[in-house]
Amino acid sequence: MPTARINDYSIVLRRLRPLLSSHPGRVGDIGTVATNNGSYPVLKIVLGEGNPRKALITAGIHGDEPAGVEAVCAFVERKLYADIARAWELTLLPCVNPSGYELGTRENHEKLDLNRHFKSEPPPLEVGIVQSVFQSPFDLTLDLHEDVDSPGFYLYQKFEPGQETALGFKVVERVRETMPINSNSEIEGMPAEGGVIHRLSGPGEMEWWPMALYALSKGAKRCLTLETAARFPLATRVEAHLTAVRTAFQNIAV
Ligand SMILES: [Zn+2]
Repeated sequence: MPTARINDYSIVLRRLRPLLSSHPGRVGDIGTVATNNGSYPVLKIVLGEGNPRKALITAGIHGDEPAGVEAVCAFVERKLYADIARAWELTLLPCVNPSGYELGTRENHEKLDLNRHFKSEPPPLEVGIVQSVFQSPFDLTLDLHEDVDSPGFYLYQKFEPGQETALGFKVVERVRETMPINSNSEIEGMPAEGGVIHRLSGPGEMEWWPMALYALSKGAKRCLTLETAARFPLATRVEAHLTAVRTAFQNIAV
């Protein structure tokens, strides 16, 4: 018997696929996750194709964090990419873990936390699908998450050496207008400063990799993992994510 659905992934597909056919972008499936409950195509959207600067925006790797998925849908529906896609090639993966999204679980249908398996060989199917978009290095990656325990927004930032590291702090300052910031000196067991966790291990120092460390290992220059606080209404979390995304692009020196 199928398990009860918390979210309906087909709605995400219905919202994004037709929109892109009338937009200056390209949308396609880059893999299929087959489960006992059904098969889920994993969607990839490319906007501003061919532009020299490359960014990746991902959401929904944890299925119980719907605001990121909703934010990517809103980013496309409201054409918030329009200015950004003049200079950037944007690759969007709106929902990396569709089976977890439908079940409302952090893990996928096989009970795997996909964001712990970017160093695994072989990787889970969904992780392999994400890895397939890393053909050339990204200048910026943004991975959209939520935290059920946090009193406010925070982010992880990890940059290639030599990159200007104020970006995360600029993002937090702008998001503060939409959602309170988690200004604890320790978040998730790591030292934090004004909502920014930036003293993080590098790819060579960790047994397992989240997506951001895989991105760095593939030459990404700047990786931000955005965490909205799930205690706020969905609309507030979506606006916080959208503000963070816009602010990141506005503050990268050309
Ligand atoms: Zn998460």
